[in-house]
Amino acid sequence: MDKSKKVYKKINKTGIVGTIITFLIFGAFSAFLLITLYLFFTTYAIESKIQGDYWQLADIADDMADDSITDTQMKERLDRMGGSYVILDGNRNIIQKKGEASFRTDDKGIINRIGTRNIKGYIDKSDSLVQRSFYGGISLSWKKLLTSNLEIPGLSDLEINLETKENDDDDEDEVGFTYNTEFQEKYNELMDERYKNDHDVGFLEVPLWLEYPVEQKDEFIVYRTVFDIKLRDADLAIEIFLLTAVFVSVVLHVLLIMGIVNFVRQRRILNMFLTDTVTGGHNWMWFLIKGEHLLKKRSVSKIPYAMVSMSMVNYRSYTLCHSVRDGERLLKKLNYSLSRELRPRELMAHAATGEFSLILRAENDDDLKQRLNTIIGKLSTIESPHVFHFHAGVNVMKPAMDENGRIHRRKNVNIEDEYNKACAAKNRLLDNDDSAVSFFDTNLVEEEKWVDTVNEKQLEALKNEEYKVYYQPKYDPRTNELKGAEALIRWESPEFGFVTPNRIIPIFEKNGFIVNIDNYMITHVARDQKMWLDKGLKCVPVSVNVSRAHFVDADLAEQIRDMVDREGAPHNLIEIELTESAFFDDKKAMITTIKKLKNYGFQVSMDDFGAGYSSLNSLKDMPLDVLKLDADFFRGENAGERGDIVVKEAIKLAKSLNMRTVAEGVEEKEQVDFLAEQGCDMIQGYYYAKPMPKTDYETRMH
Ligand code: C2E
Ligand code: CA
Ligand code: CA
Repeated sequence: MDKSKKVYKKINKTGIVGTIITFLIFGAFSAFLLITLYLFFTTYAIESKIQGDYWQLADIADDMADDSITDTQMKERLDRMGGSYVILDGNRNIIQKKGEASFRTDDKGIINRIGTRNIKGYIDKSDSLVQRSFYGGISLSWKKLLTSNLEIPGLSDLEINLETKENDDDDEDEVGFTYNTEFQEKYNELMDERYKNDHDVGFLEVPLWLEYPVEQKDEFIVYRTVFDIKLRDADLAIEIFLLTAVFVSVVLHVLLIMGIVNFVRQRRILNMFLTDTVTGGHNWMWFLIKGEHLLKKRSVSKIPYAMVSMSMVNYRSYTLCHSVRDGERLLKKLNYSLSRELRPRELMAHAATGEFSLILRAENDDDLKQRLNTIIGKLSTIESPHVFHFHAGVNVMKPAMDENGRIHRRKNVNIEDEYNKACAAKNRLLDNDDSAVSFFDTNLVEEEKWVDTVNEKQLEALKNEEYKVYYQPKYDPRTNELKGAEALIRWESPEFGFVTPNRIIPIFEKNGFIVNIDNYMITHVARDQKMWLDKGLKCVPVSVNVSRAHFVDADLAEQIRDMVDREGAPHNLIEIELTESAFFDDKKAMITTIKKLKNYGFQVSMDDFGAGYSSLNSLKDMPLDVLKLDADFFRGENAGERGDIVVKEAIKLAKSLNMRTVAEGVEEKEQVDFLAEQGCDMIQGYYYAKPMPKTDYETRMH
């Protein structure tokens, strides 16, 4: 399950994450591209324009250091360069200046780089086209560039006139704009020239203050240079920039659309992943995820919840009798009805075919049981007159607490483990075909552990002869004479002590080991009988239980014969006990086996007659020697007058069929007397003796 959880997480994540990552990568890449383009243009523009002025400045600075050149000569040279300038001392006080010192003193810095030299400078106060850029230098503002490109230098001082025209018809004057002719002419002229012969006329003038140190004098020259950007360059740069921007925007949009499509598809796949194909409702995967989510919520930490596993009994046989399609339609209906029973903050899903998983609130066990019974009641008549049966296993999960008894969030809920417990509780109902609800308790875990232990130890115990044969004598109630015995298994385990058969036989019956046990018992009983015969004791027949599972062997009779023969015991001292339920399986095969056993000289008895489904009918077809009346006749409700009548009739019936009778589980003297009166042949019960070890039994034979 962990695997599918991972798959779920994968589906849930990758697409979105992938899209986001692509988006980010491309976004970063395009930002990088745009910035590079921008920087490239800026650098190109600035570098190529200011170099000339810069080197001239450097020249002058060098000359200033030279004492042979007078200050007047220097001033002349600077004046000849044409622009405004300032000479500063080491403390940046102005020593000398020409024009206005319009540099922004607050933002001096490296404005560019020529080879290994940093060009230091200031931005002019009057100009907003140039700005400090984040990387430390200066750059041109795109926004400004875009708008300033529309202005053509030389036109700004030519005005647009507002003219008032007189209207003849009306009293009112018309107001309108007209360009003055000078403007129109200049504009046309500039425009013509601009696009003629690939020749530039328009340009932007960008003022910038360059600084150069006169190192030997601890002075600085700061010179205002003006570089221009040709409009064609700006146009080109803007075109490239815009094209790139359009391209980037298209790609980003495509990515976005792809992402959305991907997302929608994912949701669809995810839905499929979490939807049950049969009922159209939620499936186990959904239950796992949502269940965990629900139980871990802080807001429900105080609520006791119950994990419930509810199965339809015999769903498979229903589909056999009808069709799988009908079965699925039924499940769909059940799913719908169950979902209608949910209260807020409860969940349910179709976990497996015919099995529904639920998380219900469980403030009170009795209320929950009643609620489940009511729900089952509704479900069972969903297709009336057909009646369905349901088994529900419940595992109540109390709120999680810390050492101080404070309730906190259920941080570590494992839905599978909790559900498994509900299933274990449900499995206890397996032998029961009617609807029922079963609660999980820790005993159940102990039981499961025990089953596991028995499975693990059974073979070793057999090899070590830890299984002991106990004998329970059968007496004639009229004469009190020993007439027979039944061999009953006990496990004398060095690890677990004395273990009674009801703790191991059902496990052996389930796991098939019972066949080995039966053979073991037959062999040991035959061996004991032979030993006692050899000792000269007066032996009576001993009955051995043969389980129903054993009867599938067609050569069972031969197997038993061979085992007994190997020990050298006479066949008439061995009796085979069959339980009534075994008769249901295959009556014909059963009769054949019984006949064979009888032919070999064994006696055959029917065990537990009267318990469960007694079939008087089967009695007359089976050539049995002994009928064992079940202990139930002498206990509880069945005891008393009505029970007596049945016992009386059963003994009569057995006699008429030429069978002897053994009454089991007799503990009271009156019962013995009554049975003696009715002509019951033997009594096997605590009144006479409990099952005992073979040495004790041997003394009884004396
Ligand atoms: P079962 O074959 O019906 O055996 C009779 C059970 O009734 C025995 O229980 C016996 O001790 C008990 N019993 C006899 N008289 C009285 C009485 O007066 N009062 C009470 N309360 N109980 C009495 P045990 O030995 O615990 O065996 C239980 C069941 O385990 C047996 O029922 C039988 O079905 C099965 N079993 C025991 N040993 C073997 C075996 O070797 N092979 C097979 N296949 N099953 C065995
Ligand atoms: Ca028996
Ligand atoms: Ca019995």
